[in-house]
Amino acid sequence: MSEKVLLILVDGMRPDSLDVCNHPFIRKMKEEGIYIPTAQTVMPSVTLPCHMSLFHSVAPDRHGILTNTYTPQVRPINGICEQLHLYKKTSGLFYNWGELRDLSRPGTISYGCFISGHIYSYEIANVKVTEEAIKSINESSPDFIFLYLGYADEAGHAFGWMSDEYIKSVYQSWDCIEKIASSIPDDYTIIITSDHGGHDRSHGRDIPEDMTIPIFIKGKGIDPSTNIESASIIDIAPTVTKLLGVEAAEEWEGRPLV
Ligand SMILES: [Zn+2]
Repeated sequence: MSEKVLLILVDGMRPDSLDVCNHPFIRKMKEEGIYIPTAQTVMPSVTLPCHMSLFHSVAPDRHGILTNTYTPQVRPINGICEQLHLYKKTSGLFYNWGELRDLSRPGTISYGCFISGHIYSYEIANVKVTEEAIKSINESSPDFIFLYLGYADEAGHAFGWMSDEYIKSVYQSWDCIEKIASSIPDDYTIIITSDHGGHDRSHGRDIPEDMTIPIFIKGKGIDPSTNIESASIIDIAPTVTKLLGVEAAEEWEGRPLV
């Protein structure tokens, strides 16, 4: 088991965009780690509901967040950060879309940074928030870091999924991923994924373009030849806790991928 986990989420990154953008670090991740190109997200395939499912390992009808507006859970479930806090592990959230502020309950994260994509532009905010995450890892070495990059989703809405501008934004996101991966100690297992895909200039429907997401897992204890036939976004939380040697929350419905 690895000692630490870095989870990177590129908003709106379709698996087929990876073949088109062909960033050298994508090839490296595919060679050196596990790559699942057919993982599934949850309905509605919308950013906050999908992130809540990622962090709480249940479908939206259980956590109750069905739009990008957060409301407190009626029957609260621990998310990744609450569960790690219970076991005295430290977490940090680094993101450039403000609605993610409620992914962890107050008092459960030790580090974090929000750099607004609306203010700086998502292209610049991607770079800045990555730099902050690198600094935090190298200064404080948190057990778990979540890094959210919002540029690709913004480009998808503005220019269309799989447009040249969208592919360019995916490439830029991988520049950020390569930067952080090459700037941190190798005791971090790196998981890279997305919350949903997209079609035309939108997402949210139950169609393969919106529902299919990639998952990469690379780290010291990860066997790249592991064959994973199917995976869901709700499997990521139990994967993170297992890698950190922590129990999954009782209510979680996903299963560890490694
Ligand atoms: Zn999204």
